[in-house]
Amino acid sequence: MEKVKPEAQIKEIRKKLNKWAHAYYVLDTPLVSDSDYDKLYRELQDLETVYPELITTDSITQRVGGKLLDGFKKIEHKTPMMSLGNAFNEAELREFDARVKKGTNQAISYMVELKIDGLAINLSYVNSQLVTGATRGDGVIGEDITQNLRTVYSIPLSLEADLTIDVRGECFMPKASFASLNERRDLEGEAVFANPRNAAAGSLRQLDSKVTAKRQLSTFIYTIANPEQFGLTSQAQALDFLDNHGFKTNHRRQLCQNIDEVWAYIEEFRDKRHSLDYEIDGIVIKVNEFSAQEELGFTVKAPKWAIAYKFPAEEAETVIRDIEWTVGRTGVVTPTAIMDSVQLAGTSVARASLHNYDLIKEKDIRLLDTVMVHKAGDIIPEVTRVVLDKRPKDSRAYPEPTHCPVCDSVLEKIESEVAIRCMNPLCPAQIKEGLNHFVSRNAMNIDGLGPKVLEQLYDKGFIKQVSDLYYLTESDLLQLDKIKEKSANNILTAINASKTNSLEKLLFGLGIQHVGAKAAKLIAEEFKTMTNIMSASKESINQIDSIGPVIVDSIHKYFLVPGATELINSLISAGVNMDYLGLNLADTLQVDSIFNGKTVVLTGKLFTYNRREAKEKMESLGAKVTGSVSKKTDIVVAGEEAGSKLEKALELGITVWSEEEMVEAFNESKDN
Ligand code: NAD
Repeated sequence: MEKVKPEAQIKEIRKKLNKWAHAYYVLDTPLVSDSDYDKLYRELQDLETVYPELITTDSITQRVGGKLLDGFKKIEHKTPMMSLGNAFNEAELREFDARVKKGTNQAISYMVELKIDGLAINLSYVNSQLVTGATRGDGVIGEDITQNLRTVYSIPLSLEADLTIDVRGECFMPKASFASLNERRDLEGEAVFANPRNAAAGSLRQLDSKVTAKRQLSTFIYTIANPEQFGLTSQAQALDFLDNHGFKTNHRRQLCQNIDEVWAYIEEFRDKRHSLDYEIDGIVIKVNEFSAQEELGFTVKAPKWAIAYKFPAEEAETVIRDIEWTVGRTGVVTPTAIMDSVQLAGTSVARASLHNYDLIKEKDIRLLDTVMVHKAGDIIPEVTRVVLDKRPKDSRAYPEPTHCPVCDSVLEKIESEVAIRCMNPLCPAQIKEGLNHFVSRNAMNIDGLGPKVLEQLYDKGFIKQVSDLYYLTESDLLQLDKIKEKSANNILTAINASKTNSLEKLLFGLGIQHVGAKAAKLIAEEFKTMTNIMSASKESINQIDSIGPVIVDSIHKYFLVPGATELINSLISAGVNMDYLGLNLADTLQVDSIFNGKTVVLTGKLFTYNRREAKEKMESLGAKVTGSVSKKTDIVVAGEEAGSKLEKALELGITVWSEEEMVEAFNESKDN
């Protein structure tokens, strides 16, 4: 009897994979985890192996990458940018080795490289100048993202040698940049990126390259499109050549003489990968000798001389005990899952941000559910899915919160945002966060008023809004825990000193939504006094370069609320300066260095500067560089393999910079 061909099943799988691939490659918002995708992809490949007559040219197994996004010019690659075959275990790796040995009689070695989880890019240089930069696209035609790639500082815009060359590599977002980007997006009520790869892809496919420039991307280059032109005969030589011509390559590569050495390298990085500054999802193994590569050739979508060993997804199972709702400074209400503590990628995890209610609904997360957790970007714990088989019978879905968990006022869902907000400007949680912001360094810079002190001052009724700080007395302060005469006086002196701050610090300190320190400076510079800002028309604010309609609307709305005028009047009565003071030359030098007055900790390996150089440079720009992370730390610069210090910084909510961000800050300081 003839076997029934699984045509319908294949069709169904292809449909699903196409949908997932579109979400992943084109929309940069994956619907499932990579391992779920890979599993189904394997299923399709297996079926197609058994029934080769069912392979169609449009099957996803025959295609590289995804469709192209509208909005970018198209660029045809000089030679196709291919994908890689996968190995998911040691046996499959050894099968690859056997295939290679069968395909060539030459003695070969393997170049083993980290598989950086980013986006493949092609850079074309003509007579040493970068002319175009493109995504891989569908492998043959990519999207022209030259303007965006020009903002990535590790990409040389010109080469010292007069080369005409196409190079390829991975553009990625370091873990630290990913963590701070998502933190900011979460605070603003914007959707967070699922992982650094999606964050990098989303950042590179921006129509406005100013957005890309802010995203702190980096690159590792690993291939030359036509290496023979340069007399190179192996991947090892090609990587050295790239190094010598100013490209950033990954130095953790290793030349292995046989597959046992390759396996040892994989085992080594299975653990080490968590301490890298960037995310890797596997190891790429390439036959080193180009002559052997040529003999081995290609399949329709990948070279036969290379394979990607994929690490198994690192997940852990735990139980959700509660959901905690916290209210941020702008009123955004954020859910956090409280879970049984579990070991995951090197640390113990008991809390995971659920970001917003839509996500709880989408994943159908319920109290007492058993869930799988992973770490996005290897750092941020996230609930990936519910283990439905283990769902207790009496589980109940969480209702969408309707009232603020702190002040009980009705919550609002803003259209076009996923966040729900407490709109009550007198909500204690918002006020406490607002107070913390007001005293912070870039705002009024009042020392001695940490979150604990401010909380007590608020709870005891001494301050209800920021202006009340200026009416505090010594006897008020002495009623607080652990505050003695000396610290009370220090606090009062610091509060008093802040009265003479220039306008931009106050404007930033008010915590008007979307008005960051830079926007506040531009606005203060333009309008000179608070009265002018309060009465400025939307058009006149909009005329300032880099101030867009979102900021304009937000400022306008802020001053329409009667409470705002009252607050400003109360600050004026207390003697707080309302004018832009401008800056004399000495101040400019100090204030314009981002490092001025900051306590910085350096951790992990740095590439552009060595530790001593980076420390000296920061100190010359006014920073204090210390060895350990505490609440007093302002910035942690995390290089490669940053471990416990980075985790502590994230735990304490301290700003984390990648090495790129540090170098950029150096450059900005230099320009001023
Ligand atoms: P791949 O990720 O399996 O491997 C090829 C890519 O590896 C190259 O294009 C290159 O970008 C990258 N790479 C990183 N470091 C490298 C190095 N040192 N040398 C060479 N290449 C290096 O293949 P792919 O075609 O880019 O993507 C397919 C994978 O994407 C799937 O296996 C799956 O994990 C993921 N995916 C996920 C979804 C989802 O919904 N979650 C959907 C589609 C694809």
